[in-house]
Amino acid sequence: MPLKVYNTLTRKKEDFVTMHGRRVNMFVCGITPYDHVHMGHAKTYVTFDMVARYLRHKGYRVFYVQNVTDVEDRLIARMLDSGRDWRDLVAEFITEYMAVMEALNVTAVNHFAWATDYIPEIIEQIKGLVKKGIAYAVDGDVFYDVTKFDGWGKLSGMIVEELRPGARVEVDKRKRSPADFALWKSQKPGEPAWDSPWGKGRPGWHIEDTAITVSIFGPQYDIHGGATELMFPHHEAEIAQAEALTGVKPFVRYWMHGGMLMIGGEEMHKSLGNFWAVPDALKLFDGEVLRFFFLNAHYRSPIDFSLEGMEEAKRSYQRLLDTYQLLSQSAKRGSDGPMTADAVLDTAVTAAKTKFEEAMDDDFNTREAIAVIFALASQINRSFEAGVSKTAAQRCLGQIDIFGDVLGLFQKVRRQGLVPTDALLDILVQIREEARKRKDFAVSDLIRDKLKEIGVTLEDAKEGVRWKLK
Ligand SMILES: [Zn+2]
Repeated sequence: MPLKVYNTLTRKKEDFVTMHGRRVNMFVCGITPYDHVHMGHAKTYVTFDMVARYLRHKGYRVFYVQNVTDVEDRLIARMLDSGRDWRDLVAEFITEYMAVMEALNVTAVNHFAWATDYIPEIIEQIKGLVKKGIAYAVDGDVFYDVTKFDGWGKLSGMIVEELRPGARVEVDKRKRSPADFALWKSQKPGEPAWDSPWGKGRPGWHIEDTAITVSIFGPQYDIHGGATELMFPHHEAEIAQAEALTGVKPFVRYWMHGGMLMIGGEEMHKSLGNFWAVPDALKLFDGEVLRFFFLNAHYRSPIDFSLEGMEEAKRSYQRLLDTYQLLSQSAKRGSDGPMTADAVLDTAVTAAKTKFEEAMDDDFNTREAIAVIFALASQINRSFEAGVSKTAAQRCLGQIDIFGDVLGLFQKVRRQGLVPTDALLDILVQIREEARKRKDFAVSDLIRDKLKEIGVTLEDAKEGVRWKLK
């Protein structure tokens, strides 16, 4: 079955067909590093990390570029009211962003493109648009004339009439039509600026992305991702800029948008007092639990973030981790010979592999894919009761690790396996077994009780004693 991807532009699921064989060029709007990374960012970047991981799993060579908007209105506003240099703000918040992404196992980005590294390319694009009569300069500012582009509104389904600003927004009188947007902004006092044919100034937000992607990918590429909130006007403006400039349509083959992150049924907003910064959430929950929480819904669905929802996600994910730990111990130390439940487990693993890929091929349905893992986990637990050999456990673990790599889950429990804790616990279990054989119950009970104190419980099983981390 081919991979199907929901394309916002056509409003339907389409077969995924790349432009250049196994190569996939993918761009996702990055952050403006002026404030803390929030929960909406975390959801977006976990989503597209998963998308890139699954495409790679299917054998595509994904080149994933994310931009860093290191010059933009909000950053400059923060600079002016904090009195801090904009570069300091960028350094602080990009460092925080990278740390947060690491905690969420977000690792798929190949290249971060910084907007200020593309000023010459941005200026070239604006010059091109002015030359074609699509953009116009007024006292050091340059605007895009949306009436000159007949595809305006095709992504978001909006029309120019609807785009008239409300009464609360004052229209810049110098614009030819109210929806026109800035490509270049003249320097105001205290603002960072670069030289340009229109005088000193800085780029508008939308042109940064097309300058980056046209430079790196050329006039057309496979996937553009981002949050739904960016669809209008930001992504609409990107299409207008690139298609008017290069004449190549469509600029992007698949536009992918993640559903909104809600808090208590409302949009997250500083003004509503329901703003969640990711570093605060990571004090309460492990990054992998947060990742599980996001992936346990379809990426296009809105998600309602709540502490209760996170507690529930934590419990569910722990159930999978418990099974993972049992399985990895059996894969190391289970019995050699064939065991009663081997065949049943092998069949369950093969079926899970097929169902997992079917779910992921259906527009990256991670909710369904996780349900497949839960069903397999139940089968693993049942099989252990009947008895499973070491090799059957190894085959099953190999498959679960593939699922984990695609979803970016089970990464920490795997890494823990590499540190000696694992081996030390095994040694203690062995010593306790020796003590029990000698009927030295004082020693065996002491080991059991001391382990319990540090959160390790021992369980008797067919294959011997197993330990479990709480
Ligand atoms: Zn963007």
